[in-house]
Amino acid sequence: MERTEKLYEGKAKIIYKTDMEGLVIQHFKDDATAFDGVKKDTILGKGVANNNISCKLFEILHKEGIKTHFEKKLTDNEMLVKGVEIIQAETIVRNISTGSFCRNYGFEEGVVFERPTVEFSYKSDEHHDPLMNDDHIRVMGIATEEEIATMRKNALKINEILKKFFDSIGIIIVDFKLEFGRYNGEVILADEISPDTCRFWDKETKKKLDKDRFRYDLGGVEDTYAEMMKRIGD
Ligand code: UDP
Repeated sequence: MERTEKLYEGKAKIIYKTDMEGLVIQHFKDDATAFDGVKKDTILGKGVANNNISCKLFEILHKEGIKTHFEKKLTDNEMLVKGVEIIQAETIVRNISTGSFCRNYGFEEGVVFERPTVEFSYKSDEHHDPLMNDDHIRVMGIATEEEIATMRKNALKINEILKKFFDSIGIIIVDFKLEFGRYNGEVILADEISPDTCRFWDKETKKKLDKDRFRYDLGGVEDTYAEMMKRIGD
């Protein structure tokens, strides 16, 4: 397989075209951004950690019957994936209150929800990723009602699988963001699942093991990505 031109470069990843029909390379960078790109830095080893973590989690999800864009791991910081058309609404699942949920609603932090919540936000840094309901997504032509239902149903299924897996390695998955894409008329899971896109707390100590360490200058950022890669991979 050969890599051809760069198709897209985002804040944390680059997508390259390949000479294989329908397949692209997803390259993970060490670049980190937060607060809609206002805070920027490099986290050494983040690309390798996020690629390895995502590969492993996509494999787990695949075994449980979830359709994803993942094909195979290529190198330490690259995976081969199906080239999808990303749906411009991000799907966020929450098990415990924190982050924007608490900021937006003045709600107490750390409340364990009886049932998880699913919400959508517009994938647009320029507009600060505002929350969207099903009608907003539909009238803006971002996704159909059927696609929205598929994203919601799969997000909840993915949550159950991830909750079980992370529990088995002593980690709580607090909340996370998913991106779905269209491939041959189907909606499948795409993007990444990593400490950049999830909040992880250690089950015993409640220590934050995710990008919040970078967002809020909590220290030990590089070590945290390395520790998560080790715990997930072992
Ligand atoms: N998230 C993400 N990308 C975004 C926004 C959120 O990956 O553009 C993830 C974030 O890491 C967390 C979850 O989605 O695991 C919920 O984030 P929240 O809405 O609380 O936003 P934040 O507090 O990060 O602004």
